[in-house]
Parts: sequence; C-alpha cells; structure tokens
Amino acid sequence: MTRSGPADLAFLGGAVYTVDAARRWASAVAVSDGAISAVGTDAEIGRLVGPDTEVVELGGRMLLPGFQDAHVHPPSGGLEMLRCSLTEAYAVSEYERIVGDYARAHPDEEWITGGGWSMDVFPGGNPSREVLDRIVPDRPVFLWSRDGHSVWVNSRALEMAGVDAETPDPADGWIVRDERGEPAGTLHEGAYTLIDKHVPGPTAEDWVDGLRMAQTYLHRLGITAWQDAIVGGYDPTLDAYLTFARSGELTARVVGALWWDRHRGIEQVDELIAFRERGRAGRFRATSVKIMQDGVVENFTAAVLEPYLDANGRPTENRGKSFVDPEELKAAVTRLDAEGFQVHVHAIGERGVREALDAFEAALEANGPSDNRHHIAHIQVIHPDDVPRFRALGVVANAQPLWAVYEGQMNHLTIPFLGPERSNWQYPFASLVRSGAVLAMGSDWSVSSPNPLWEMHVAVNRTSPPGYAYGGGNVEPFLPEQRIDLPNAIAGFTINAAYVNHLERETGSIEVGKRADLAVLDRNPFEHPVDRIAEATVVRTLVDGERVFDAGDLG
Ligand SMILES: [Zn+2]
Repeated sequence: MTRSGPADLAFLGGAVYTVDAARRWASAVAVSDGAISAVGTDAEIGRLVGPDTEVVELGGRMLLPGFQDAHVHPPSGGLEMLRCSLTEAYAVSEYERIVGDYARAHPDEEWITGGGWSMDVFPGGNPSREVLDRIVPDRPVFLWSRDGHSVWVNSRALEMAGVDAETPDPADGWIVRDERGEPAGTLHEGAYTLIDKHVPGPTAEDWVDGLRMAQTYLHRLGITAWQDAIVGGYDPTLDAYLTFARSGELTARVVGALWWDRHRGIEQVDELIAFRERGRAGRFRATSVKIMQDGVVENFTAAVLEPYLDANGRPTENRGKSFVDPEELKAAVTRLDAEGFQVHVHAIGERGVREALDAFEAALEANGPSDNRHHIAHIQVIHPDDVPRFRALGVVANAQPLWAVYEGQMNHLTIPFLGPERSNWQYPFASLVRSGAVLAMGSDWSVSSPNPLWEMHVAVNRTSPPGYAYGGGNVEPFLPEQRIDLPNAIAGFTINAAYVNHLERETGSIEVGKRADLAVLDRNPFEHPVDRIAEATVVRTLVDGERVFDAGDLG
C-alpha cells in the first residue's frame, strides 16, 4: 500500500519484520506526519522519496515495531540507577565495594539507599547487618533486594528505626533474627515498613528525575511503550508521570496500573475512578488496577496449592499467602471490571494464579464479556489444569521470560522447596501459546534487566544470555519443552504487549496508518543461530517518527 506525495522519512534496504497479522516481511517503509504511510519494496517506497525526504539506508539491518514492556517499574528503576545500585553485581565482595564507593562519593547523604542485591548470594537468602556495618558504621543503610520483596539494613538503620529484639513481626512480613533474637539485618515482605517510614522518601522532583533516567534507558533498548505496574496509592509516581507528560518530556506511551490497597476493601474503587479521571496527560493514562495476590517463592509467600517442602524435602504446613482473600478478590475484580478498569494481578504460585483466574471468571459471569483485557503477571507456577483457562476467559498471560532459567534463586531457593513435579510447571510459555492464550511479555525491571532482546533470548532458548549476571553462561536449558519460537517472542514484546495496553490499533506492528513507533536492530536475528539473539543491539528508536534514541550507526 502506498500513498501519493513525498514522505517525510523513508527506510530503505532493510529486513523489515512487520509483525502485521500475516507476519510478512518488507524491505522499506515510508513515514509521514509521524505515521506509517507505506510499507513495501525499495522500488515502491523509492517512488515516495522527494527532495525533502530523510532517507535511512538500513543496509540489511532489521526494522521492527518499537518494543513494549507489559510489566515494568521505570520511575523506581531510574531512581535506583541514580542511587546505590547493586544490580550489575553478583557477589558479596562486589556489593561491599559498591556500597563503600557510593558512601564515599555521597558524604552528605543522611541515609544510603538503593538496592538490587540477590538473595542467593547470601546463606539462606538473608544478608547480615555486620557486612554493612564494616563499610558504613556511622550512617544508616537501607537496600532493597532485586525482587523488591526484602530489605537489607545495617545496625545504624535498625537503631534509628527503634527495631530490636522486642519488636514483634508485623502480620504481613518478618524480621530475620539471630540466635539472641536480635534483628540480623534482613527484613522480608511487609516488615520493610518498620524501617522505611524513617527513610527520607524521594521528593517529587527525585521521582521525575528517575522517570527521565528510565525513559532514556528504555528508549536505548528499543522500548517505545510500557505498562507501569504500580502507580498511585502508596506510590507517588502517578504525579511524576503527570508532571513529566505535561512538560512534554514523556515520549513513551504509558499505561499506569493504579495500586490496589490490600488492607482496604471495595470502598477504594471510587478513589481509583477519581485517580483514573485525573491520571491522563500526553501519552500517559492510568486505566489499569494492580492487585498483588501473593508474594514470591523464594521466601515462601507465593500462594501454592500443596505445601512447600522443607530443606530436607519433607512437606511443611506452609502454603504461602493470599494477600487478598479469594472471595474478596472475586468481588473486587467484578466491581473493577464493571467500572471498565483493566485488572493486572501479580500471581506467582499456582494457587495465586488460580485465585486470579477464578476472580476473572466470576467477573465474566456477573458482567458478561468486556474489552478490559485483564492480565496476570509473573505466572511462575501454573497448574496444568489452569493453562487453558487464560484463553477461555480472555485473560492475557503476562510473562517475565528472563526468570525462566537455571540460576541461583531457581536452583537453591525455588526447585528444592517446590518439589520436582511442581518445578516442572514453571513458566509454561509454549503450553500457553499452544492453548491460544495471548502471551504478552515484560521485564519487571528493576527486578531484572529490561533488555527485550535478552528476554526474547531466554524465551527462545531457556538459557541466560551469555554475560548476564544471573545464570549467564549456563548452557543447560530450563524446561526446554517450554521454549517458544522467535516470532512468538517478538509478538510478546510488540503486538501482544500493545494489546494488553489497548494500543494495538495504533502501535505494535508496522502497518499503514499506525504511528511510526519503531526500532532498528544492528542485524536480522532470524539470519543468526537462536543462541545469539541476545547479541543483537538497538541502533535507533523512534516514536511518532521522531528519534528518541540514536547510537549514531546509521549515518
Ligand atoms: Zn513488578
């Protein structure tokens, strides 16, 4: 299809992977007024080149739709990049060096905050305060784990927060204690609030700085749209997005998922409706609601059907936590669905996933079909009986593929405690695709890298990208029968993520009339072995036909 008159921009000589309904290939694309005006051969698009057309010779590089991340936390990820960030390291000695360097470089910061440490680096997943005390004895240190479910603090932080042997565990978390009952330096789940309330929070300006940093980073990775998995409620980033969007700086398209306060009930829906009305500016809109249904396997808070095993492989009494009572979840989801909200549930354990599906089924029965496109993120363990329910109920499976590998947390903190049968139910991407479910993908950054090419690498290979801190270089694939092919992996980060963001009519594929949200890769990964997908890099990213990242490789 072509239109007459010269284009503003023309890409020629490329491997254009359109991700349109037929998944067809082209070699050239024309852009006018920020939209895709023609897709075709070099000869066809060449006819649209006029004296003022900017021509990009792709030289065989790949042009594809801009990537979309279906579950990500950019403002906190960006803020973490600006703070004491441990995400690139993977050893206690490296953590010590980074914290020490950061403390020396920031002598005026009252509290040293940041995060990104890995549980499996420490015995039992619990880092001790003594390690931090040796490096920073005089100032409080407060560091999030990379999965955001635990914090690591030093003695000064415990002291300033008044947390000691007498402090009881809160209902929704616990303090790790030494043999004398003293806090040992790790606090899990809701126990972080005991310390967190004493930490000077980021200012409104800090959040905007974090978002700016994150947007630059994500555009560099070819990402042009995302769903922010927590805005509003306890999280002040809703206003950061609105400020950033109103200033004209928000170049990404963003759907915000408003936080569901699990300590309150259905009465909060009116508040969420008000947030949704207020939460719209530029390319941002807050039209989703995030409900956290369970925790994570590594600290036994993921909701499971059969109890966790102990370290000797014997069943315990612990079946994890349902953060929202299943009947209340049904009522909440039914009401949110009736109000036209999309519901975005965090569910990791097979019981958490089932409770979420049951709630979506209840909403469907009560309200009839909708176009809300509810989704369940993480879906680490899915009972085989529940796999077909995603398609049957129209629920999108929102996967974070980087986790589907053998690495420390999987080997030492997950498989032994789930047991052999249930361990094989993890991240069943191929089963979901075969069942006809829409499989959208995302990173959960800053939990793990937001690089979509690394994530696709894992979805296709089920091994970590070489060089990645978590399991990199491990060649044994994790449940190889659940590998998916590259077209399905690309769809997960383009058209299917666009679908969950209600953006598929304007983005997610290269088709005439859609917005020119595009990414250029340095190569065509289809022409290389699949175990080299992670080596591809993004050289240019565009939103509405405007460059938002340029590595300078295209002339
Ligand atoms: Zn998340």
